[in-house]
Amino acid sequence: VPLTRVAVITGANKGIGYFIALQLAVSGLFTDVIIGCRDSSRGAIASEEIQQKISIGSSSSTKMHSLPLIIGNVQSHTDFCERLEQEFGSASVLVNNAGFAYKGSDPTPFNEQTKKTFETNYYGLVDFTEKMIPLLKKGKDPRIVNVASMAGKLKQLSSELQTKYTDEQLTIEQLNSLMKSFEKDVHDGVHRQNGWSSSNYGMSKLGVIAATKVFAREEPSISVNSCCPGYCDTDMTSNMGRRSPDDGAKNAVIPATMKNPPTGEHFADFDVSTW
Ligand code: NDP
Repeated sequence: VPLTRVAVITGANKGIGYFIALQLAVSGLFTDVIIGCRDSSRGAIASEEIQQKISIGSSSSTKMHSLPLIIGNVQSHTDFCERLEQEFGSASVLVNNAGFAYKGSDPTPFNEQTKKTFETNYYGLVDFTEKMIPLLKKGKDPRIVNVASMAGKLKQLSSELQTKYTDEQLTIEQLNSLMKSFEKDVHDGVHRQNGWSSSNYGMSKLGVIAATKVFAREEPSISVNSCCPGYCDTDMTSNMGRRSPDDGAKNAVIPATMKNPPTGEHFADFDVSTW
């Protein structure tokens, strides 16, 4: 049994991820909290700031760390996991928080927006999760929390596509090819007529919720859940959200820390919710 209990949060140098890291660190449940950030200096500043906050505001002895991680870059995923294994041996919690959304006013063509959004929010999250699973299996009481969104609601799809996304036998490979068919239909300009959503961000998060259920089924020793933080006041929403990122973070922290967590569920507004 490992003596360490390590939590990893992706994209935690600001926004909701920062508060997820802070709350996990303050909880005292972890020996180490690691934030995976693509900008090392921003990561180091956030990690030191959280370390200071826990030393003032709680009796937690958690140590903060920042490691380089670019979600969507498979080499970076490998490098991160190798370092994690060498320096810590295992992980108990993975919160996949890093995410990206184009602003409504962005002139990038829909096609290109779809590619970039999927690369981080869906394919990147799935590949990084697959690489983290062996380390989580060596950890104590392992859990994965995927930060999705209410934008990932199932009802944005035709009923035929809903049936495919909710198939109890669905595999990650099949889910990847469903996501690829959306991309192809976007490319051909026929995604609306073929029953897909008009939002690529929404589709990326719908994919995350579907992947959560697949991972939960395939990895019964790990509690795997998704969440929506709510509409939060962060850079992503140009500070339009009504909920503080501190409050929004609780939707990920609850399944990451609660006793006897469920698996394959979606959390919103601080409770289990429907997809
Ligand atoms: P922010 O844009 O404020 O922060 C996003 C964080 O993710 C930043 O730390 C950013 O790093 C990091 N990040 C983005 N892309 C990558 C990448 N490819 N590799 C590594 N890190 C990356 O967003 P929020 O805090 O608002 O959002 C956090 C999560 O919550 C996202 O998944 C988002 O989709 C989801 N969400 C947010 C809602 C909201 O209302 N805010 C509502 C529903 C869901 P950097 O500083 O380097 O850019």
